[in-house]
Amino acid sequence: MDFQFNMPTRIIFGRSCVKKHVEVFTYCGSRAAIVTGKRSARASGALADVENMLKHAGIAYEVFDYVENNPSVETVADISEKAKAFRADFVVGIGGGSPMDAAKAVAVLAANTFKAVNLFSNTFNKALPVIEIPLTSGTGSEVTPYSVLLRKDMETKVSFGNVHTYPAYALLDPDYTKSMSVRSTVSTAVDAFTHVLEGYLANRSGAFSSMMALEGIRVFGECLDGLKGPEYDDVLREKLMYVSLLGGLTIAQTGVTLPHGMGYCYTFFKGIPHGIANGLFLRAYLKLVKPEREEKIKDVLKLLHADSIDSLADKLELLTGRPPALTEGEIEKYTELAQIQKGSMANTPGGVTEEMIRSIWEKQNQYAEGKGE
Ligand code: NAP
Ligand code: ZN
Repeated sequence: MDFQFNMPTRIIFGRSCVKKHVEVFTYCGSRAAIVTGKRSARASGALADVENMLKHAGIAYEVFDYVENNPSVETVADISEKAKAFRADFVVGIGGGSPMDAAKAVAVLAANTFKAVNLFSNTFNKALPVIEIPLTSGTGSEVTPYSVLLRKDMETKVSFGNVHTYPAYALLDPDYTKSMSVRSTVSTAVDAFTHVLEGYLANRSGAFSSMMALEGIRVFGECLDGLKGPEYDDVLREKLMYVSLLGGLTIAQTGVTLPHGMGYCYTFFKGIPHGIANGLFLRAYLKLVKPEREEKIKDVLKLLHADSIDSLADKLELLTGRPPALTEGEIEKYTELAQIQKGSMANTPGGVTEEMIRSIWEKQNQYAEGKGE
């Protein structure tokens, strides 16, 4: 029963929560840098709500609305320079995981003098306060200390984060996810599911994180059939945001494992969205860790009304599709790159060797699109 639990983020969940909580903004200061993507903050109505609150509270702000999917080190460096020049007291991240992660990086860089590439040493000891407003139900970034950035020089994504990068506030309004496409809704929901699942099975799991992970798996089970869409009702959207939050709360304690560590290759080289990229590994992953996690996998299958790993994986495959076919050269390169993700690999039950990673890429290929049953 030994465990630790740290959650310094104040969580406010519910429809219209931004409009109801002006104090969240006034507590953080009088100058805000809003970090967001190109369209979704406007399409969802979240940006208008935040701007109205800031104006109402007399808080000056500047909007930086060019965070790309899979935010790069270069983008956060650029925005942080401008946020510094604006003398921002705090940062508001509005978006999916990409803008929310970028907001954390901007908050660290704006409070310090080092270069963006040094974020990954995790040695900083201050950051501006961050308010996160998720527009997807997936990453749980609103309650994690992690920020995942694209390292073009390393051809992969690398994360950083320490106790100073937990957001100060998370404002979760499920209505903001209504403008998401079916594809994004599915991909982000699968991401949330992988968080609760990986967190439940992880070496770093504990009694407290398991409580949240199991609740997330149970509620995801209630969403599974409805996720196919094409329409989503308010109840489903609310449940998905709840699963996403539980996923973030879980991985903030446990970290992620092999599917995340390997999934970055699908995203970087094949353009597959983060959630789908992780989901594509679940069949191989559950089979890999079964000897170490027999009882826990039984719990998962029961909560998801599946009688075997394959029947669960078949259900998920209806949402994710099959993995892309890879060449032998790609398998070699991805095997090398996956080993950079040391934290995820060390957190995988039973541990992972180079040979095991290569054999998983090969198994993925057996299930690849166009390869029959
Ligand atoms: P995302 O990359 O933030 O967004 C994907 C696309 O969906 C973007 O084009 C975005 O539009 C659009 N979108 C988002 N919300 C929308 C809405 N409500 N309505 C319409 N369009 C919407 O997607 P994500 O899956 O949420 O985040 C993935 C990122 O998070 C990855 O970089 C991943 O590595 C990271 N991640 C972080 C953590 C963590 O703990 N920090 C955990 C898991 C994943 P815009 O272009 O307008 O933004
Ligand atoms: Zn994820």
